[in-house]
Amino acid sequence: MNPAINRPTLSSIALGARQVHTITDRFAMTNTYLVEGEQLIVVDPSSATHVHLLCDYLERVLHRSPREIRLVVLTHLHLDHTAGLHTLLERCDAPVAASRMVRELVGARRRYGLPPLPHIAGQMLPRMLDQLDLFLPAYERQMKYITTWLDDVDGLPVDANWRVIASPGHTPDSLCLYNPFTAELLTGDTVVTIERNRPVARGRTSPSLLEETLHTLRSLRVYFLYPGHGWPILARDPLSNVRIEW
Ligand SMILES: [Zn+2]
Repeated sequence: MNPAINRPTLSSIALGARQVHTITDRFAMTNTYLVEGEQLIVVDPSSATHVHLLCDYLERVLHRSPREIRLVVLTHLHLDHTAGLHTLLERCDAPVAASRMVRELVGARRRYGLPPLPHIAGQMLPRMLDQLDLFLPAYERQMKYITTWLDDVDGLPVDANWRVIASPGHTPDSLCLYNPFTAELLTGDTVVTIERNRPVARGRTSPSLLEETLHTLRSLRVYFLYPGHGWPILARDPLSNVRIEW
């Protein structure tokens, strides 16, 4: 017998297993994801426009209410992923979860009294600005919404099939979400596909941290990669040709 006959094809896997819906703008510049597993989970509310698209999709396509959303997860706290949070919380009263690293970063800022930086940040080089913006007041402002702190390898509180993968690199607090049963991976900005489906990892903390993160992600069985920016990828090994940019 031809051994290929019994091997599951990507299309059969795609029909059976996917739990993730992509909510995006016309050019997939930034993506919000809706996980429809044991519970409804929203990952990265992005902008008020994304939240309107999300609620519309929930009601018209899935015939479900935003009130059924049981958890909101932030892959990191950059504003392009979180600006819609306030609008979303007007439509549902789900708890908001983010990496415990956020709390540690903000706590360190308070302990060591780093000054507010916006007035000098504009004079800095872009890469420096990327690092400094971790400490901008925006991070502290958004922290007040977060009620659930996530650690590496945790299962999500409302659906333990979805695991937290700490993925420092883009920011120290970045995390990915992985479901080993459906082989789906949400990468936030750790890996993006803004250039014709070629995945790119862009580091802003340290090269070794990013390498370590990619090593961890490549060890996972992934068929569906959902990036924070760009189109999702369906492939047997979507992380094999990630280009690292520094
Ligand atoms: Zn980002």
